[in-house]
Amino acid sequence: MEILDLVSSILANTMNRSTMLKHAGTRALPWDIIIVGGGATGAGVAVDAASRGYSTLLLEQHDFGKGTSSRSTKLVHGGVRYLEQGNVSLVMEALKERGLLRRNAPHLVSELQFVVPSYAWWEGPFYGIGLKVYQMLSGKYGFGPSQLISKEETLRRLPNVNPEGLTGGVVYYDGQFDDARLLINLIATAAGQGATLLNYAKVTALRKDADGIVDSVTWMDVETGETFESAARVVVNATGPFTDSVRHLAEADAERLIVPSQGAHLVLDRSFLPGDTAIMVPHTSDGRVMFAIPWHGHTLVGTTDTPITDTPLEPIPLDQEIDFILETAGLYLARKPTRGDILSHFAGIRPLAKSGHSSNTAALSRDHTIHIDKSGLLSITGGKWTTYRNMAEDCVNQAATLANLPDSQCITRTLNIHGHHNDASTFGPLSFYGADAPAIQALIRADATLGQPLDPKLPYCAAEVIWAAREEMARTVEDILARRTRALFLNAQAARRMAPRVASLLAQELRRGPQWQADQLADFNQIAAGYVARNG
Ligand SMILES: Cc1cc2nc3c(=O)[nH]c(=O)nc-3n(C[C@H](O)[C@H](O)[C@H](O)COP(=O)(O)OP(=O)(O)OC[C@H]3O[C@@H](n4cnc5c(N)ncnc54)[C@H](O)[C@@H]3O)c2cc1C
Repeated sequence: MEILDLVSSILANTMNRSTMLKHAGTRALPWDIIIVGGGATGAGVAVDAASRGYSTLLLEQHDFGKGTSSRSTKLVHGGVRYLEQGNVSLVMEALKERGLLRRNAPHLVSELQFVVPSYAWWEGPFYGIGLKVYQMLSGKYGFGPSQLISKEETLRRLPNVNPEGLTGGVVYYDGQFDDARLLINLIATAAGQGATLLNYAKVTALRKDADGIVDSVTWMDVETGETFESAARVVVNATGPFTDSVRHLAEADAERLIVPSQGAHLVLDRSFLPGDTAIMVPHTSDGRVMFAIPWHGHTLVGTTDTPITDTPLEPIPLDQEIDFILETAGLYLARKPTRGDILSHFAGIRPLAKSGHSSNTAALSRDHTIHIDKSGLLSITGGKWTTYRNMAEDCVNQAATLANLPDSQCITRTLNIHGHHNDASTFGPLSFYGADAPAIQALIRADATLGQPLDPKLPYCAAEVIWAAREEMARTVEDILARRTRALFLNAQAARRMAPRVASLLAQELRRGPQWQADQLADFNQIAAGYVARNG
């Protein structure tokens, strides 16, 4: 990195949108790497590239994590199902990454106990053997040991499990995290390593040199409508479900790489899954795995795998998905959830790599794919949240070769992620902020009213809104309620109630007027309507 680059990257290394915009908009030199897309994949690539010393620009059309990366099942896992499909290498890779992520972000990744309830004599030994193998594959990166448990012990660990016909259970362990928070922490990590990262910056065109090789991107600051042109040695397309539309900016007739598939989740009250143990159902009636997990004091149930043709930025669970999850949960829970129990529901789109002509998206590979078009545009897609780091390492290795960048080793295996803290539980409801929690506590010490919950149903307070606006590039009410906090995903009605206060706090921080606040509320309420359960 040249001296001027270094100085400007140091200036840009805190998460401040104006500084990032200035840096991105005024740089005349080509960037080593421009990344399109600010989800798990793009953020991971930005951390990897910047920490190798490559000048790095990431452009996200909406907020960081707006796409699939805030809509996952929140598991850091090897994927029991992939073992069943015989994809041992994918499981081993993911289990290793699970271990690395727990070490690099201990404030966000925790061990979660699962029980597979058995309702036939053979299920215990059958799943017991499979889950033992799963545990063994993690080697030195292992979590807790798996074991068979009696019917009584199953009922003790899962007080609301359906007791009718229950014969026992199998215990195993996996990882759990908060996806949107890890994403924001990855963006901060990349910024700390010198990357420039912008939300609300949509890539609208890819330009090519005389040889037909992509050498610059045109992007728009969505807040002002102003457009910019940035040159790059290599452009990485990390746009998940949008991979093909960005590829089409370079080659209008490029053959599709992605088969989109939607997955929905329901959020219920904690009383449906009291305690700290999750349920894993290894075989639903459509041959999938389903989870019910404790998450942020609620119960998260999902997911589905529904082939779709369109890829909206704000997908909405389909009626049949909601019914299917409720029915399946009802088979395993003594107190059966109904539509009226749904506090929030959300959907995400899997960017599965296309293979052959399979119409069954559940059977498509979850491996990641790196594809280089003849224009030199490098697209990385597929994979899982859990494997984002390994995907990024692979991607930057290939991007560096393609762009002839100086050799530089990947260091992310041992790189602490922003917020790293080994004892974050001491921060109570602020534990997910890890090392940032004391700064939020200081805001509350200075003004105790900032520590009051914004709604009695959720633990979030005004200090978090101020923090998100000042330090985490939150720009809208939705950014705060959907991704800096998880209010919208946990309880959509509570999030709606919080919105006016959040709009007023944010307007103060961003120096906006009453009309902006009114527009924000209207926009947020429209989005929130997609999270509130419809009555069948
Ligand atoms: C229902 C479901 C459950 C899942 N559960 C798990 C799980 O428990 N554990 C796990 O490990 N994995 C899980 N996954 C997989 C994981 O969530 C995804 O692999 C991962 O989030 C994909 O991230 P991404 O960055 O590739 O895509 P995205 O998060 O969608 O990011 C792509 C980004 O590109 C941006 N973009 C698009 N076009 C442009 C443009 N023109 N200019 C700028 N930006 C643009 C979008 O706005 C978007 O933010 C799950 C997936 C789904 C769908």
